Amino acid sequence: MKIEEQKERLLEEKKILLEELKKISVKDSKDKYSAKEVLENNDVNDLEDQALELADFDNNLTITTELQKQLQEVEITLEKIEKGEYGYCEVCGEKISDQRLMVLPSASTCREHMEIDVE
Ligand SMILES: [Zn+2]
Repeated sequence: MKIEEQKERLLEEKKILLEELKKISVKDSKDKYSAKEVLENNDVNDLEDQALELADFDNNLTITTELQKQLQEVEITLEKIEKGEYGYCEVCGEKISDQRLMVLPSASTCREHMEIDVE
């Protein structure tokens, strides 16, 4: 496994995540507007429609939070590469297997400690 290749993969992932976040924030501001509009409109008869609008807004927030979390992980990993600390388990300090890093370039723990990573 070449660290340069992992870095490229992480930079690519970062680019994709940023693009996704941008797409959602554009959609999000539109949703915020419609959610506000719905809340301010006292003559709304269609409650089901109103509920759907708000549910969609909630859903976007969840996706945004998830994307931001992933982006943060990628950034932390890129930082580790710069410092030469990449590829070691945060829990036991053992080298993370190449196989695991190929599947998950931003892995910060070895296979044995991956449950802790998830928590
Ligand atoms: Zn470990």
